Amino acid sequence: MKKLLFIPILLLVLFSCSPDEETICTDSELGVNCQGADYIQNSDSPYVLPWEIGKTFSIGQGNCTEGSHPFGQLQFAYDINMPIGTKIVAMRSGIVVKVIESYEDLESGTVGLLDEANLINVKHDDGTEAQYVHLTLNGALKNEGDSVVQGEVIALSGNTGKTTGPHLHFQVIQALTECEDTDPRENYTWYSCNSIPLTFKNTSEHCLGLLDSNFKPNGYTAEPY
Ligand SMILES: [Zn+2]
Repeated sequence: MKKLLFIPILLLVLFSCSPDEETICTDSELGVNCQGADYIQNSDSPYVLPWEIGKTFSIGQGNCTEGSHPFGQLQFAYDINMPIGTKIVAMRSGIVVKVIESYEDLESGTVGLLDEANLINVKHDDGTEAQYVHLTLNGALKNEGDSVVQGEVIALSGNTGKTTGPHLHFQVIQALTECEDTDPRENYTWYSCNSIPLTFKNTSEHCLGLLDSNFKPNGYTAEPY
């Protein structure tokens, strides 16, 4: 009987967060839709927040929501509330593999089309790909093929595509070799790639990714790293 009690307590100690975040991390309501997701500790993360050091923004929508981040490619996406023209920095070094920047920003109160979002995609050396979406008109500051360094300003946020207000939507997609071939036909492939859980090495420690403004109304500050 003693042994049975000891194991759960040990697990609790091993997986609990730093003391000041304990209340947040043990709240059973949090991450309920993301149960089992493998968020690594911030200190081990290869990513930084996609905004400049010293700036603070709150999270409009986090991971695994029933809103527009339910599963698959959008499951581990974030929406960051920020005014049009906010400087976006590369979360990780890589090569720009896709740029769209010809769409006009939407008038407030209107919603655009999914495929009319400006964006910049950056491929990392492990094959994963960061996608920064809803940029402003001409908001990509790099071209396809350019190298970008972690922390470098690469884009300006905006309000283009399927959006109800100015924000940055971003996610990192798993490497193609990790994606599932979902084409049932022989000799054909159709890769279904998911987003991956992200943490960030330059903000306060947390267990379940970045928490939305209901739980963290003051948002997250990008700290020096
Ligand atoms: Zn989003």
